[in-house]
Amino acid sequence: MSLLELQGLTKRYGGIVAVNDVTMAVEEGEVRAVIGPNGAGKTSLFHLITGVVKPTVGEIHFGGHRVSAMPAFGRCQLGMSRTFQITALFPEMSARENTRLAAQARDPKRWLPLGGGGVFAEAARRGDAALERLGLTHVAERPAGLLSHGDQRLLEVAMALAQQPRLLLMDEPTQGLSVEETAQAVDVLAGLFAGGGLTVLLVEHDMEVVFRLATKMTVLHRGTVIADGDPDSVKADPVVQDAYLGGYA
Ligand code: ATP
Repeated sequence: MSLLELQGLTKRYGGIVAVNDVTMAVEEGEVRAVIGPNGAGKTSLFHLITGVVKPTVGEIHFGGHRVSAMPAFGRCQLGMSRTFQITALFPEMSARENTRLAAQARDPKRWLPLGGGGVFAEAARRGDAALERLGLTHVAERPAGLLSHGDQRLLEVAMALAQQPRLLLMDEPTQGLSVEETAQAVDVLAGLFAGGGLTVLLVEHDMEVVFRLATKMTVLHRGTVIADGDPDSVKADPVVQDAYLGGYA
């Protein structure tokens, strides 16, 4: 069984079909990008997977569990961690405190009044390791709100990583970054993914970013999957060319 399996997933908002009978899987170790033009249903699909909204029809299995109706928190406990399109940090806390809190949020013993020190130390250790993987150790003591925009996006990834996810979900990791910041962030992410051991599902508009990072792609058009495969075959697919890429290849 795949780590994440979507079967016949449909989301309707009144008369609008945002996601239409989507069946796809994410295998352990792959970095899968979901792409598609504006309104294709990428964000809606992301919301269905993370539990922000419930499917109208269809099933979601994660790590062998049926999670179709499970709230977002339960999915997080099973090992889904996400970053957000809009920066979601505690700006007055240091980068280190942000990652430590993120690590702690996943720990079932986090509210124990006694013995909390061990939980705290372990969370701090995991948070520091995540900062290091994102190349942020040198800014660990700085308030998150004072970091550059690019480092703030990477800090969000570090926070998700500090939770040691089985599946890392990234919603437009380079959204709002300048060309230089995007190039730097993509270098860091490419290095992180090349290290192996992570399974990633990302939604991204920027095709340069997608082709640099993704090992697999799913293309959505009007809520429907029109292509699924490795980046080279997707890029060469005439249906994708027609619907979306418009001569990118
Ligand atoms: P973008 O790239 O612009 O973010 P997207 O691919 O993420 O687009 P969605 O935001 O998932 O696409 O939207 C898919 C369709 O569903 C659109 O027609 C959108 O207007 C509609 N939609 C999304 N969320 C809602 C909602 N809460 N209520 C009504 N319609 C919605």
